[in-house]
Amino acid sequence: MTGRETDVDVLVIGSGAAGLTAALAARQAGAARVLVAESEPVIGGSSRLSGGLMMGAGTRYQRAIGIQDSAADLFHDYMTLNQWQVEAGVVQRLTDRCGPAVEWLGDLGVEYYEQLVFGGDETKPRVHCPIGRGQAVVDVLLRHCRDSGVEFALGLRVDRLLSDGGAVTGAGVGDDTITAGSVVVATGGFGNSEAKRKEFFPSVYDTGWSYYIGADGSRGDAVDFTRSVNAQLTGFDRGLRLLHTDFDRMYEAYIPGWLTLVNRDGRRFCDETAPYGIMDGLMKAQGDVAFAIFDHRSIVEATELGVARYKQQIPGSSKRQSPHWNLDIIDLMLTEGKVHKADTLAEVAAAIDVPAAHLQATVDRVNELAARQEDADYLKDPKFLEPITNGPFYAVEVRPATCCFTAFGLRIDRDGHVLDESGRSIGGLFAAGEVTGGVIGPRYVGSGNSYGNCVTMGRVAGQSAAAHAS
Ligand SMILES: Cc1cc2nc3c(=O)[nH]c(=O)nc-3n(C[C@H](O)[C@H](O)[C@H](O)COP(=O)(O)OP(=O)(O)OC[C@H]3O[C@@H](n4cnc5c(N)ncnc54)[C@H](O)[C@@H]3O)c2cc1C
Repeated sequence: MTGRETDVDVLVIGSGAAGLTAALAARQAGAARVLVAESEPVIGGSSRLSGGLMMGAGTRYQRAIGIQDSAADLFHDYMTLNQWQVEAGVVQRLTDRCGPAVEWLGDLGVEYYEQLVFGGDETKPRVHCPIGRGQAVVDVLLRHCRDSGVEFALGLRVDRLLSDGGAVTGAGVGDDTITAGSVVVATGGFGNSEAKRKEFFPSVYDTGWSYYIGADGSRGDAVDFTRSVNAQLTGFDRGLRLLHTDFDRMYEAYIPGWLTLVNRDGRRFCDETAPYGIMDGLMKAQGDVAFAIFDHRSIVEATELGVARYKQQIPGSSKRQSPHWNLDIIDLMLTEGKVHKADTLAEVAAAIDVPAAHLQATVDRVNELAARQEDADYLKDPKFLEPITNGPFYAVEVRPATCCFTAFGLRIDRDGHVLDESGRSIGGLFAAGEVTGGVIGPRYVGSGNSYGNCVTMGRVAGQSAAAHAS
């Protein structure tokens, strides 16, 4: 028995921000029949679960509040942070066009908070925060896709590409085939596959506590189904790891700033409020294990305050208690052996196996800095410097075990063509978003880097796919 056959101009695989953007851009560029195939029963992938924060430089939103910025500055920051270990041509396209992409979303109807935030270590805020988070962006894109005639097929998990003479001519799902002038792969990452985390993102897997917070469909199917056309993969062991306590599977993007982190040697090593892209690298340098140290007074005060003290408040996110760093949870985790509590620092040091003299010296130094209200060592905002003086004392092990997204995947050129093993573009095959590699570097530039990549390069890939199909 033969299956169903469908023929379209542009087939987009995956309905996250990258896929929806590519589909809409392909329609806007003149592709007559555009179909989005989505494996799950719901549109939006990780993009709808996401904060939807998006980087963009030189936007009208920045200008409106007096922020002078440019694509050239963003490119410079991006490349310097990543020590040029990314595809420079693709990154230049991304940094040139992500500001216009933010504005394009605004023109479509995405509303942003007036306040912009810092994504990472940049000198000026360039992260745009959509009202309604990632779901609102997905809703706006979906509405425009539907209005412009883009078709959707849910529950269609593409399992292979069709090709002819090395060029891609469509895709298959079981017995069914979809022939297409161009195919855009926008299937997201592979965080939801433990086997692929182990193989392609070992630094998160090897923490031993690794778990994923994104969408069910992030199984890395594209790594498998693009093998038949020899697609090149790049960006090994990249993605974003967030600090995790092993208390539960609830993520907390940052630890509250009042905690003191020490390494296995009992020494402090960072500003505890560092952006997560930076913290990821700092943790790697410490062997991916650290301990949060605090005293009883601090945890009582944090609990009574009822609001987590993070460095930055994202507009629209509710000011709420830290889900982990409050007395109820700490007491509960004591009973599970995940919190160490003792009357003296020496006992705490013994419990976590760090040199007691080092831990004592670290705490003495933190207390001195807190009294002076100046972090002369790691430059943390002094409002977060918390003395550790009143026992009982606590230690909690943290590891960068939360996998937020992955960044190993298909190598593309700046027009969104997928390259083969030899470096040539594969006819008819395009990709954008988390499924690609080489765009997000060894250092996550900051909040908005991934969404910026999805929307910006999704547009690029959609336009290229439409041009190729015609
Ligand atoms: C909780 C959370 C918060 C985040 N916050 C931010 C943020 O504020 N800013 C930021 O920049 N980044 C953020 N990120 C990361 C960012 O949101 C994602 O990297 C990005 O949305 C991925 O978009 P995408 O379109 O590439 O993939 P997705 O949105 O994951 O979409 C891929 C789609 O493809 C489908 N698919 C997979 N395989 C197949 C197949 N074989 N056939 C058909 N369909 C398939 C999937 O089901 C999915 O719907 C966050 C991530 C998470 C998990």
